[in-house]
Amino acid sequence: MGRNFQRSRIYKWESEWSDWNRQTLSLKKCRKLIHAACKLFDLKMLPVVKRSEEQFSYHRKAGEIGLLKQHQTPAVALHEAAHYIVFQTDGRHGHDELFMGVYLVLLAHFRIAPRDALEHSLRKRKIKWIQVKKKGRS
Ligand SMILES: [Zn+2]
Repeated sequence: MGRNFQRSRIYKWESEWSDWNRQTLSLKKCRKLIHAACKLFDLKMLPVVKRSEEQFSYHRKAGEIGLLKQHQTPAVALHEAAHYIVFQTDGRHGHDELFMGVYLVLLAHFRIAPRDALEHSLRKRKIKWIQVKKKGRS
């Protein structure tokens, strides 16, 4: 299976949680949230910049996270932070079980939704994850 085998499942799953897609944060708040996520895994903060084109996400080469205005939500900020964390700690990218494990830790830690509810809905969507431990202090 390719590394992006569950990408579309994850995208669909995210769209089910309608609050995630409604709540808009300022770029400053996104930055703060991503910073806190980095700290949780003992990683350096990376630049978080505003993007006006289609390009948004974690850019490995540029070493930054770009966000469109409509993607300035807690869930998208943490999704991109999870890409950064996985790449820094494991050199991997894509939406595999490790990515989902890190993303799940972040979503629960920052109280986007309770872990039990997240796990339940992931199982329903047949999305896989592995158990991941936070590395830094919270
Ligand atoms: Zn992604």
